[in-house]
Amino acid sequence: MRGYAMLKIGESGWIEKDKPELGPLDALVKPLAVAICTSDVHTLWEGAIGDRHNMILGHEACGEVVEVGACVKDFKPGDKVLVPAITPDWNSLEAQAGYSMHSGGMLAGWKFSNFKDGVFGEFFHVNDADGNLALLPENINPVDACMLSDMVPTGFHGVELADVQFGDTVLVIGIGPVGLMSVAGAALRGASRIIAVGTRPKCVEVAKGYGAGEFISYKDGPIADQVLELTNGEGVDRVVVAGGGCDTFIDAVKALKPGGKIGNVNYLGNGDYIKIPRVEWGVGMGHKDIRGGLMPGGRLRMEKLGSLVSSGRLDVAPLATHVFHGWDHLEEALFLMRDKPADLIKPVVVID
Ligand code: NAD
Ligand code: ZN
Repeated sequence: MRGYAMLKIGESGWIEKDKPELGPLDALVKPLAVAICTSDVHTLWEGAIGDRHNMILGHEACGEVVEVGACVKDFKPGDKVLVPAITPDWNSLEAQAGYSMHSGGMLAGWKFSNFKDGVFGEFFHVNDADGNLALLPENINPVDACMLSDMVPTGFHGVELADVQFGDTVLVIGIGPVGLMSVAGAALRGASRIIAVGTRPKCVEVAKGYGAGEFISYKDGPIADQVLELTNGEGVDRVVVAGGGCDTFIDAVKALKPGGKIGNVNYLGNGDYIKIPRVEWGVGMGHKDIRGGLMPGGRLRMEKLGSLVSSGRLDVAPLATHVFHGWDHLEEALFLMRDKPADLIKPVVVID
């Protein structure tokens, strides 16, 4: 089979590989559509997960089951499926402890284009198929289905980590596709006021549609100062971090009310430490929680998030700004994600 692979850090191209072998619990899936992620850019060009040789890229897809292992009960060839970016081992102790995304080690639930070949190939392997796949609802098209792999579950996880409650004022830092889903998730959870950090006109337009009412720019000075000005010096109840770097936490803590919570889903690519401002953290006693997490995957999660889209409660269509048809456009879509033109949110490739 053919797959689009990372040859080494900074180099990619099409390669030939054997079809993945299936264990008794696994499934072989053929992509119906794949989406490119900021993480693919981090992996390939920034060496975020270290060097990988001839590893097929990609972790966002929906597909059709081609073959299943002998012990798979609920899926059969021909089923169209949602596929989460994170595919835990559900019988692991970490999953039993409630942290399936860390099954097999910290962050090790992330397998596609990390510990094994990803989804940018003619076929891909899904471990623990009954635990990880979900049937694709008939009224969700393949482009929208790709947004359910990572963007919806990650953006929403930021909202879960920040524990957004009815009536909260929520600050969402970074409104790329993940942050946009955090805006949508915060609105669904009942936030009364959503302040977003971001200025790209396309992202601002989409964020408004999802419920953000006020916008600030990190280029206009410290985020915290601008938030405190907007909130009469009080700050916000919750912060979701979906962009920025290690120093973003200084602003997040400063912008937060006592008793507030920060939910981070942003990947911190450099720096050794995260600084917490001592005084604004209540000199250690401010009840300002800082939490960060990898998105949860798995079938139940996919079914629930899928039902939000199929019922019309969540419209993910505005995220897919660039839709291509055919594998021949995969590289173009990947390079587009690296170069991030102003009107881009997510590139998706439909495999017709
Ligand atoms: P993105 O690059 O499109 O969005 C990040 C946004 O943050 C951009 O709009 C950028 O302008 C903004 N930004 C940059 N510097 C900033 C600063 N100093 N302050 C505030 N905003 C700033 O990326 P994305 O696809 O939306 O993903 C967001 C992050 O989530 C990435 O780091 C990605 O790797 C990570 N991610 C995490 C998970 C997870 O499971 N936790 C899953 C997928 C992606
Ligand atoms: Zn992704």
